[in-house]
Amino acid sequence: MRTQADQHTQASPPLITATGLTKRYGRTEALRGASVDLHAGEILAVTGASGSGKSTLLHCLAGIVRPDEGSVTYGDEQLGLLPEARLSELRRTDFGVVFQFGQLIPELTALDNVALPLLLAGSGRAEAQRRADSWLERFGVRGQADLRPGELSGGQSQRIALARALITGPKAVFADEPTGALDSLAGEQVMTALVHASRESGTAVLLITHDAQIAAYADREVWLRDGALHSGATRFTVQEAACHED
Ligand code: ADP
Repeated sequence: MRTQADQHTQASPPLITATGLTKRYGRTEALRGASVDLHAGEILAVTGASGSGKSTLLHCLAGIVRPDEGSVTYGDEQLGLLPEARLSELRRTDFGVVFQFGQLIPELTALDNVALPLLLAGSGRAEAQRRADSWLERFGVRGQADLRPGELSGGQSQRIALARALITGPKAVFADEPTGALDSLAGEQVMTALVHASRESGTAVLLITHDAQIAAYADREVWLRDGALHSGATRFTVQEAACHED
């Protein structure tokens, strides 16, 4: 049976193409010529040992960090050539990011945390809160709408962080160990929410994890070793990642 991810990967060019990425921090080579494609509607897991360059790769693809060499192409734009203002705009509108520890704003309620990206994009408060409320309901955390992050469990925080990342309807979500601090039940709930949202809206997901059970939610898997990418299991898609060979 062809999945939605199959249809996207076979019919359309990649949403994001990273080619030959190199990134150095002093004498540390975090990335060494890493190349990978991310397609609309697919969930791509990036696995690898701690320090292998996973977060650096995610930051380059999301336009948070500029690589020293190589390019990241999104549509017809090359991220490395864009002014900071356009990168900020893309991060607000087209890309969503979720980190290991939700990074919710501690002073705001769960509802206002989720509504914030819409408010920053110019929506009215009532409309932003209405849409935030429906995302909270969808992810099973509506009962926590008025709580502040300090009053939430780790799993609730991560589902709220996911809702905040998805509320603007991004084309791609970058999730850096989104379940890394959770027990397995809370991790499953977060992954189920992420997979459903991706399947419904065709959002591409770059999922960083070192947990094989979490990687099993992905359509495709690549792994990093010492900053270089290798292809891993292809679960549903037939398209291979562009891989760097040693
Ligand atoms: P992973 O996500 O796989 O744990 P990272 O991308 O975080 O790997 O890091 C890869 C390497 O780059 C590590 O050796 C790390 O210490 C180094 N590194 C990452 N970010 C920075 C930074 N901002 N400053 C200095 N070194 C960094």
